[in-house]
Amino acid sequence: MNTPLLEIKHLQKRYPIYGPLGKLFPPKTHMKAVADVSLNLYEGETYGLVGESGCGKSTTGRSILGLVKPDSGEILYRGKDLTKLSDKEFRPLRRDLQMVFQDTLSSLNPRSRIGALLEEPLIVQGMGNPEERRQKVLEILKMVGLAEDHYFRYPHELSGGQVQRLGIARALIINPKLIVCDEPVSALDVSIQSQILNTLTTLQKEMNVALLFISHDIGVVRYISDRIGVMYLGTLVEESSTDELFANTLHPYTKALFSSIPDFKKKEKKVSLSGELPQYTDEFKGCVFHTRCPHACDRCREIAPVLTEVCPGHKVACHLINQ
Ligand code: SF4
Repeated sequence: MNTPLLEIKHLQKRYPIYGPLGKLFPPKTHMKAVADVSLNLYEGETYGLVGESGCGKSTTGRSILGLVKPDSGEILYRGKDLTKLSDKEFRPLRRDLQMVFQDTLSSLNPRSRIGALLEEPLIVQGMGNPEERRQKVLEILKMVGLAEDHYFRYPHELSGGQVQRLGIARALIINPKLIVCDEPVSALDVSIQSQILNTLTTLQKEMNVALLFISHDIGVVRYISDRIGVMYLGTLVEESSTDELFANTLHPYTKALFSSIPDFKKKEKKVSLSGELPQYTDEFKGCVFHTRCPHACDRCREIAPVLTEVCPGHKVACHLINQ
């Protein structure tokens, strides 16, 4: 592959947990939201980040946009470390880096008409004169499947699917290079989900935008992604191209996650997970999955496995595989 558009290297984010007297005393421990995540994203590709709620996917995605400040690690966009930039230095890069949220409606000013909401990023980036911006807004409305007369409507007048189309339009209107899509279709009905995903993939190919697609739904991630990273408890446990991952699923957690797909390797034994995600604090030892893994041994409870390439492009963090 070519040089990555985005390189995340050893990203870490912890949150303090205080005792009963709160911030009067130093934190008694920290909860690791993201622990040492490294991944690359290439121009025009879709990288799906999948895992249960609370596994650190959104924190990873938001760190790219500067919405979460990581404790350590690097996020290199075209070689520039985004974690080291001031707000002023980051501002010009906002044109390249955009986000689509799960709840687009709450990120919009309810008193602004849709035309004004779409024109806003163009004004902020100093793009075009008023007439050119109006034309651009009408063009993007059409591209995402909204009608011209939506220009004068308010966001609350739209259906859930239309609101997500508006979110995609707002992200695309300034021709970004990378969009972080954080659960963009999970609040929608299945039939609407596929329409939105089709719109997103068509426009992505036309505009050659890279997508970091975050979702807990492996079916959706499989449909849209070129490569997939599986996250568990703030840790990337398996990464591969989509086809390879489904043909040669290796990590016990990935197998459990895929068991929820009705047609996943009918002959393969279904693995069901019991219990909640444990708290991943500073004291936690061993493999992040050992408390729920059917194959856990003493070594798993003591030593964390390292994400290791087992065949070209396919990486796994498991002692069973990385013997
Ligand atoms: Fe299971 Fe051990 Fe592999 Fe972790 S390292 S996934 S606990 S077998």
